[in-house]
Amino acid sequence: ATPISTMIGVGKAAEHGILVRSGEALQTASRLTTLVVDKTGTLTEGKPSVTEVHCLDKDQARLLGMVAALERGSEHPLAAALLIHAERAGAEAVEVTDFDSITGGGVQATGPQGEPLLLGNARLLREAGVDLAAGSGLADELEKRARTVVYLAVNGRLSALFGISDPLRADTREAVKRLQTDGLRVVMLTGDNEHTAAAIAREVGIDDFRAGLLPEDKHTEIERLQQAGEVVGMVGDGINDAPALARADVGFAIGQGTDVAIESAGITLMRSSLHGIADAIEISRLTLRNIK
Ligand code: ADP
Ligand code: MG
Repeated sequence: ATPISTMIGVGKAAEHGILVRSGEALQTASRLTTLVVDKTGTLTEGKPSVTEVHCLDKDQARLLGMVAALERGSEHPLAAALLIHAERAGAEAVEVTDFDSITGGGVQATGPQGEPLLLGNARLLREAGVDLAAGSGLADELEKRARTVVYLAVNGRLSALFGISDPLRADTREAVKRLQTDGLRVVMLTGDNEHTAAAIAREVGIDDFRAGLLPEDKHTEIERLQQAGEVVGMVGDGINDAPALARADVGFAIGQGTDVAIESAGITLMRSSLHGIADAIEISRLTLRNIK
C-alpha cells in the first residue's frame, strides 16, 4: 500500500469515529479472517444488575452485609452490581479482614467471627470444597436465561446465590450478522461459565465460543487461531483483555474501554458498538482495494 492512500483511509476512518494508530493496523484489518470478541462489555452493555436473590440462610440482611463487605474491595463490574443491590436492601457491611481478590473467580475474606467468606463463580467455590448441590437446580435455570450466577459461602457452606443480568447492546445481533456477512468468523471468548455463555452466544447468533477462560487463556486461544492460519482481530474493553488485544493481529478497543485496553489496541472506536468494527474493516478493505 502506498503511504498516501493508507493515510486517506486513516482519515476516512477518523470521520467515522474510528481512531487508527498506524497505517499497518489499517492494512492488517483488511486481511482479517477471524474476529474474537469478549462477552462482557463488548456484546453486552457491561452494566450488570442483580435480578434474582436466593438465600439458604434465614438472616438475609446479614448475608447481604457480608456481600457488601466483600465486594467493596473489588473493581469487577459484578461487584458493583452486588454492592448496589446490598445497599438498596439496606444492608450494613460487616467487618472483614484478610480480603483477597481471585482473578477470574471472585473474592474472599474473613468475617467478624473468624468465619471464612467466599463469593464468586461455581469453579472457585467447588475448588474450595463447597457443596453447591442445594443451589444447582436454580443455578441451571438462571444460566439458561443468560444470567451469571454468583455464589456466597460462609464457613464453607453455600449460603446464598445471586442471578445477575447484563443486557445485550441493542445492536449487537445485527452487527454480528454484518461481520459474518463480510466473511468474518466471529468467536466469543469469556470468563463466564459455559451455560451462560451458550445462552448469550445463541441470542447473538455466534456458534463458536469458549467459556470459563482466565485472561491468559484468551491470549492462548488467539495464538491457537493464528497457528491455524487465521488472521485474528480481537475486540475488548477491560484490563483483563489487554494481553489478548496486544497478541491479536489487530486489537480493537471499544468506546468507554479502560485506558489499558486502549493502549494495547491498534484501533479504538469512539462509540461502543460492534458496528464500528464492521465500519473499520470495510473502510480498510476499500482503501486497500483502491491502491491495488
Ligand atoms: P469476563 O469479563 O469475561 O466475564 P472475568 O475474568 O472478569 O471475565 O470474570 C470471570 C468470572 O469470575 C465472572 O463471570 C464471575 O463469575 C467471577 N468473578 C470475578 N470477579 C468477581 C467478583 N468480584 N465477584 C463475583 N464474581 C466474580
Ligand atoms: Mg470483560
